[in-house]
Amino acid sequence: MGVDYYCCDVCGQTYPDCGPCGNCSSCDSSLCGQCYDDAIEKYSGRDGWSEKCQSCSGEIINDAQLVQYFLEHCQLTRAGAEKLARSEILKGK
Ligand SMILES: [Zn+2]
Ligand SMILES: [Zn+2]
Repeated sequence: MGVDYYCCDVCGQTYPDCGPCGNCSSCDSSLCGQCYDDAIEKYSGRDGWSEKCQSCSGEIINDAQLVQYFLEHCQLTRAGAEKLARSEILKGK
């Protein structure tokens, strides 16, 4: 049995699943130990953790959300943006 590594949806760090970590039960983000502790600390009320994390509380915007925002903002599809990026990147070579 090996150790699996996951990418924290909040801070973007990679963490091993053998250490402290957790999942937000509200948006299903995977959180590293540090962010999980932070989430519990920040979003727990009198009834305990409200099961929100930095991601679904709107505190952070992850890369996927950011990309989605820019695509919509520029009225691009993912494929269109990829094509643009590819031609820009190849141009410099
Ligand atoms: Zn994290
Ligand atoms: Zn969440």
